[in-house]
Amino acid sequence: MDRWLAEFEAALAVRDIDRVVSGFVTDCFWRDLVAMTWNLTTMEGHEQLADMLEARLPEADPSGFVTAEPATADGDVVSAFIEFETATGRGKGHLRLRREEDGVDRGWTLLTTLRELKGFEEPQGDRRVKGAVHGQSEDTRSWAERRADEERELGYTVEPYTLIIGGGQGGIALGARMRQMGVPSIVVDKHERPGDQWRNRYKSLCLHDPVWYDHLPYLPFPENWPVFAPKDKIGEWLEFYTRVMEVPYWNSTTCLSAQFDEKDGRWTVELDRDGEKVTVHPTHLVLATGMSGKPNVPDFPGQDVFAGDQHHSSAHPGPDAYVGKKAVVIGSNNSAHDICKALVENGVDVTMVQRSSTHIVKSESLMDLGLGDLYSERALAAGMTTEKADLTFASLPYRIMHEFQIPVYDAIRERDKDFYDRLEAAGFDHDWGDDGSGLFMKYLRRGSGYYIDVGAAELVADGTIKLAHGNVDHLAENTVVLSDGTELPADVVVYATGYGSMNGWAADLIGQDVADKVGKVWGLGSDTTKDPGPWEGEQRNMWKPTQQQNLWFHGGNLHQSRHYSLYLALQLKARYEGIPTPVYKLQDVHHLS
Ligand SMILES: Cc1cc2nc3c(=O)[nH]c(=O)nc-3n(C[C@H](O)[C@H](O)[C@H](O)COP(=O)(O)OP(=O)(O)OC[C@H]3O[C@@H](n4cnc5c(N)ncnc54)[C@H](O)[C@@H]3O)c2cc1C
Repeated sequence: MDRWLAEFEAALAVRDIDRVVSGFVTDCFWRDLVAMTWNLTTMEGHEQLADMLEARLPEADPSGFVTAEPATADGDVVSAFIEFETATGRGKGHLRLRREEDGVDRGWTLLTTLRELKGFEEPQGDRRVKGAVHGQSEDTRSWAERRADEERELGYTVEPYTLIIGGGQGGIALGARMRQMGVPSIVVDKHERPGDQWRNRYKSLCLHDPVWYDHLPYLPFPENWPVFAPKDKIGEWLEFYTRVMEVPYWNSTTCLSAQFDEKDGRWTVELDRDGEKVTVHPTHLVLATGMSGKPNVPDFPGQDVFAGDQHHSSAHPGPDAYVGKKAVVIGSNNSAHDICKALVENGVDVTMVQRSSTHIVKSESLMDLGLGDLYSERALAAGMTTEKADLTFASLPYRIMHEFQIPVYDAIRERDKDFYDRLEAAGFDHDWGDDGSGLFMKYLRRGSGYYIDVGAAELVADGTIKLAHGNVDHLAENTVVLSDGTELPADVVVYATGYGSMNGWAADLIGQDVADKVGKVWGLGSDTTKDPGPWEGEQRNMWKPTQQQNLWFHGGNLHQSRHYSLYLALQLKARYEGIPTPVYKLQDVHHLS
């Protein structure tokens, strides 16, 4: 490993691209998160590697490649965490070498990530700020007074450099990083309090992902935090986090519109701050408005004549008002299952309407076989840290990720065979993803189509939650009528029909022209259901420059909010400090939404 890195660095140093590339196997990958390319991009194969190096090597000037800890071997593959630097920053990464038939170890997957900018290191550890003023200071204000002044000025007499629209976990994590990096930024959110994004969801909701996967930047959850935090508890944490991380957060603030002035290079953003109209002119605009934030509400004939309650899952209040009544839940993914479970457990007669197949995986199996090596107590005991887990996770190129996922789901299928047999016997239409790669690939490709089972699936399997199939034809006064004529009596109808693309937020706030210019957000171009090709190599438009100058998208699950907010923050910080950021291969647009 050390020999390979030394030869790699020597070839880079003399700018001999052929020599660099010949150190890699032909089916190699170099995934770069900002360090080399000022972009999030994966180069696949010799030609793409050479193209990137041709464009970026002289300026990026990478050097100092070393292993951060001893390499580990698994069959013909040797892996190690690495460190390096570039002209502008310091990086970390991960390298896998594969032994080829000629007995030579060549580079297979290389991950390079930017961790900090030289000269603009964050005030952490040795660099932490003193806090107290020892000796004379001209500024006699206390910390609280300075904070109050900042709050009074920012957005009024001081323009934010970055405006982050949406203060859920995504906006908050990015806001914390911006604050630590000293980039004047404001996070705005419609809600009254940070954390309301979770508080306002249905009563029974707990996180589906385990605590080890969910930490926010800088401040991990305490040791006694539950594995699956209840939604109100995570709401409290987000509010507490926002306060202690000093995130400039404007609650009860709705972004009404945003326009980019090409000449000025700034946005004009109209805000309604608790009834007060405020106009700000940030240089950068980040939409952190949620990939599960824009409800898809279906339009069925008869919705106007239906006499009971009807609402999207995002507005579902929980079971209390419906005890002893009949509920029809349209949809069969995560929200549908969670809501059906809470309803049925509270004495509601529930029918779930399944239109298309859903992938289900039992939470314990997913934790054990899917995440356990990286995010678990077991992983911690084996020396895994959140940072190392994130780097390992990121080191697997999306092109081949499914190949690593398929065996995991084969093992889950085997382990939980009885469960799946029972579910299918009950008539549930189950799938494993187009290529058998399961939940995580579905999440990355389309962000939907699955349920992490915390008990509802058993209730479907044993018939406690009734199942109906097909499309809704219309609603009548007291029934939901399916296209095969089935009539389902209902006092309440819940549309657990998912969420629209984040591109829709750009259309609403900025305009359809900008939304079209930017194109679809999320997905990999895998040419599987709801993720049309061509292959993109990275998640479309997420955390990286888009076709609309100075417009960015951020969000996703807690893991992504934590990890990818770093790369977005560094891109913004570099621009704020006037560091040149030539973007290699700006995102192409193949689909509008
Ligand atoms: C039922 C459910 C369960 C989930 N479970 C998990 C889980 O276990 N683990 C996990 O990591 N993820 C989970 N997710 C997915 C996802 O992580 C969450 O949706 C998460 O809340 C996304 O965070 P976010 O910050 O990207 O967006 P959101 O939390 O949706 O926040 C977006 C914010 O933008 C604000 N906003 C939108 N438009 C405007 C505007 N014009 N002006 C001002 N503010 C605006 C909204 O008020 C909202 O607060 C779940 C999602 C759902 C729906």
